[in-house]
Amino acid sequence: LSRGFRQARNRLAGLTELTEQNIETALREVRLSLLEADVEIGVVKAFLSRVKEKALGRTLEVKVKHGGETHEVSASDHFIKICHDELEAMMAHEGQEIVWAQSGATGIMVVGLQGSGKTTSCAKLARYLDKEGKKPLLVAADMQRPAAVEQLKVLGDQLKIPVFNIPGASPVEICAAAREHAKKQGRDVIIYDTAGRLAIDEPLMKELADIKSRTKPDNIFLVVDAMIGQDAVKTARSFHDRLDISGVIVTKLDGDARGGAALSIKEVTGAPVLFTGLGETTDKFEPFRADGMASRILGMGDVVGLMQDFEQVVDQKKAEKDAARMLQGDFTLDDFLEQVRMIQKMGSLKDLVDKLPIGNMFPGGLPQDVNLDDRELVRIQAVIQSMTALEKRDPYALIREPKRVERISKGSGSKPEAVTELVQKFLFMRQMMGGLGQNMGMLGKIPGMK
Ligand code: GDP
Ligand code: MG
Repeated sequence: LSRGFRQARNRLAGLTELTEQNIETALREVRLSLLEADVEIGVVKAFLSRVKEKALGRTLEVKVKHGGETHEVSASDHFIKICHDELEAMMAHEGQEIVWAQSGATGIMVVGLQGSGKTTSCAKLARYLDKEGKKPLLVAADMQRPAAVEQLKVLGDQLKIPVFNIPGASPVEICAAAREHAKKQGRDVIIYDTAGRLAIDEPLMKELADIKSRTKPDNIFLVVDAMIGQDAVKTARSFHDRLDISGVIVTKLDGDARGGAALSIKEVTGAPVLFTGLGETTDKFEPFRADGMASRILGMGDVVGLMQDFEQVVDQKKAEKDAARMLQGDFTLDDFLEQVRMIQKMGSLKDLVDKLPIGNMFPGGLPQDVNLDDRELVRIQAVIQSMTALEKRDPYALIREPKRVERISKGSGSKPEAVTELVQKFLFMRQMMGGLGQNMGMLGKIPGMK
């Protein structure tokens, strides 16, 4: 049993039963977290009462087996885990992201408020489909702003994906003509970039409804800016009532927003979030992942992560393989987190290094800097989970731009200095691990590793 788990156990020990009272404490925590994440208040209430009912109605297994030993986990932490799983289930989407046409080109109509990221998302989607071997056609049907057509054309040029438009024509005419054009050009997916407004109004809705009835798209995607917060529900409802949207793209998740809109919209419209926008460039686009979003919304990755460690039977082979990878020195911050967890499972980092044939490379023991205190595990997790994808890929961004450190500090509850220190530790460790791996020449020399 590693120190980390002993400490985690101590931290979580105590409550062993889910009672009305300790549920209330946990509920308050979760409620706050959801509101901070901009989940709409009605959705928060509905969610909490549903979860409460579930938790009370069942006897919890609070003793968790780990490595042959049994540990007690606090009921309130377990409750938060229930919330996480419920959130994940609520946002999860089964099946394909895109409904494909039975015959002819597949239509994807993209709608949303002005500035939500429609045009950008259309280009991202086209790039994504192009990579999947499809032949998308982009249709510039936002005739509201003169620059909108040009914007899409520039993006299309960059991606070498054709953009269709008829200068001076109405959006409905353009969209209707696009089908014929796609057929002639052999394009099999048509993406309609439509106009938006700062607020929803009738002329806009009528225009969109007309485009819908003329083109009969197989998909209607609503683009929502994650920063819009509580307003997401109102917006989604209006679009959904009129157009019956089939899916949602949540943009600007590379910012501070905790992404509660993803939950609210799914709850209110039933339309699943299918893709996420994670930056201004067209490659910053990913299929939606419900588990990641659940952690982000709860802002409680630490507890959830801990619970998962407790619940997972340690796979020794995987732990060894991962440690071997780590010693090769090429790993990201995500790996780092995973590796730290794995190392906890294998015994402390010091023990591991002591086992190595080159253990006497550091006669005085490990340099202080890499002696990762097991207690830091929870804090490290919180910090890393508050980072954006870009920051994880390029930790130097944090050193270049102190604002990022500030944001992460707020999100994770660690001091800015602690965030910076963690990044430096990571960079140092990556370097050291790379060195270790090289010095050993062969990983096969580590006892028990192949
Ligand atoms: P539209 O009015 O709905 O077509 O919105 P645009 O596609 O023109 O985007 C509005 C602004 O948001 C532009 O400055 C985009 O670069 C930016 N944007 C769009 N998607 C994202 C995203 O995922 N992350 C970030 N950071 N910015 C985005
Ligand atoms: Mg636009």
